Amino acid sequence: MLPLFLCQNARMRNTTRNLLFVASLLPLLACTPQETEQAALPAEESADRIDLIIDGQSVVTMDPAGTIIENGAIAIDDGVILAVGTAAEIHSEYTAAETLSGDHRIVMPGLVNGHSHAAMTLLRGIADDLALMDWLNNYMFPAEVEFVDAEFVRIGTELACWEMIRGGTTTFVDMYYYPDTIAQVVDSCGMRALISATVIDQRSPDAESAVDSLQKGSGYIERWQGKNSRITPIFGPHANYTLDAEQLKNTRQAAMRFNAAISIHVSESPFEVQYAKDTYGMTSIEMLDSIGFFDGPTIAAHVVWPTEAEIPILAAREVGVIHNPTSNMKIASGIAPIAAMLKAGVRIGLGTDGAASNNDLDMWEEMRLAAFLQKVEQMNPEVLPARTVLRMATSGGATAIGLGDEVGSLEVGKRADVIQVAFDDVHHVPTYDVVSHLVYVSDEQDVASVVVDGKVLMRERQLLTIDTERVATEATALAARIQSALEERNRK
Ligand SMILES: [Zn+2]
Repeated sequence: MLPLFLCQNARMRNTTRNLLFVASLLPLLACTPQETEQAALPAEESADRIDLIIDGQSVVTMDPAGTIIENGAIAIDDGVILAVGTAAEIHSEYTAAETLSGDHRIVMPGLVNGHSHAAMTLLRGIADDLALMDWLNNYMFPAEVEFVDAEFVRIGTELACWEMIRGGTTTFVDMYYYPDTIAQVVDSCGMRALISATVIDQRSPDAESAVDSLQKGSGYIERWQGKNSRITPIFGPHANYTLDAEQLKNTRQAAMRFNAAISIHVSESPFEVQYAKDTYGMTSIEMLDSIGFFDGPTIAAHVVWPTEAEIPILAAREVGVIHNPTSNMKIASGIAPIAAMLKAGVRIGLGTDGAASNNDLDMWEEMRLAAFLQKVEQMNPEVLPARTVLRMATSGGATAIGLGDEVGSLEVGKRADVIQVAFDDVHHVPTYDVVSHLVYVSDEQDVASVVVDGKVLMRERQLLTIDTERVATEATALAARIQSALEERNRK
C-alpha cells in the first residue's frame, strides 16, 4: 500500500497516512509513469512537510515487543505519531517545520505520574518526618484550610508543572482543590492530565462537606468534559476513612453519570485497613468492592496493604494501582507488594504523590526506588527488572490510568507525548544497555526536550510554556506569607 500512497498523494495528511505508512519504507514498485514523475521531484518538494521530527541515537518505543531503534526518528504531525523508524527512513520520507536533533539523545515516551497533589509544591518541607495520620490530621489538613485558595493552587500547580516538564513527565493524575484552576494551568502549560475534583467529608479549602464537594465537583466535570483533549476531569474521593460507604457509593454513581473515572487513596497505611475492619468488618479493598465502588474505572493510589484475597479483586476489576515508593518510604507506610500484584495481572503505574511527602516530583527516582524496594524486601535482585519498571512509568502507567490507547508508547497513531533524554553526561559514558541507564542512572536533570500532543514544551532545557521567572517570584512571595503566618501561630 505504501508505494501507491507515496506516488498518488504525497500531500495526504493525518491519520489515514498513519495507517498507510506503518513501518519501513518499501521500494516504489507500484508507481505508474505519471506517479513516478511526481515521486522524482526534488526531496524538499516531494517529501511530506510535517510539524516535527524527533531524532535519537536510540528510540526506546515501549511498544508491546519492546522495540528499540538505533539511529531512529519519529515523525509527528497534528499531535499524532505518523511514523517510527530509522532516521534515514524518516528523513527521506518527510521534511518537518522543526527537527529535534538526536545527537547524544535518547527518545522515549513521556513519563506518566499516576498520583500527585501538584499544588503541594508550596507545602514542601513544611512538615517532615511524621506518620501519615499525624501528618495529615495535625499538619496538612489544617494548613490547607488556612492557606489554600485558588491563587495558591494556581501558583503551586504551575510550580509542579514546571518541575514535571523539566523532569520528563508528560501526563499526571492530580487530586487537589480548585480543580478548575488546575485545569486552567494544565490547559496553558500544555501537559496532559487527569484532574480530580476532591470529594471529602470535612471542611476543605473549596468545600464544606462530602455533599458540597460532590456537588461542586460535578459542576467542574460538566465545565471541563470534552473541552480540551489533554484534560480529563475525574472525581477524587479522598479515602475510605474521610468518606463513609454511602458517600463513596454516591461518588461512584456521580462518576457513572458522567462516564468519568475515579482516583482514590486505597490501603495506604495499616491505620486505614484497621479502620475498615473496625467499621465494616472487612479490609479496605473488600469493602470498596462490596459497595460496587469498582464498577467503573478506578485509579487506586498506594495499595500498600492489600491482602492475598484482595489482589485478585484488583486484577479482575481492572483497577489501576499507582505505586508511590518514595512517599511510602518517607511516611513509613510500608512496602507495596508490587511483584505479587504484577504476577496476578494487576495494572500498575508509578507516582510521586504530593511534594510534601516525597519531597520532589522526580519520576526517575520513583523508577529506581520501585525496583530497589522490591529487591531488598524480597532479598532477590531479579525481582522487578529495569524493563518492567520502565514500563510502569510509561505504557503500563498509561494503561493503569485508562490512557493506554492514547499515550505511553511510541507507536503510529498514538498522541505524540515524547521526551529526549540527554546521554552526554559523564554518568552515561559508556552506555552498554540504554534501558538499564534510563532506570538506574538517568535523573530529571538529564531530560533535554519534552513534547506533549506534538507540541514542544521544553526545548534543550528551555521551558517554553511557563514563565518560570514569574512563577518563582510568585511562589517565593506566597511562601513568605505562609512562613510568617506559621511563625505567628507558633508564637501563640
Ligand atoms: Zn496522595
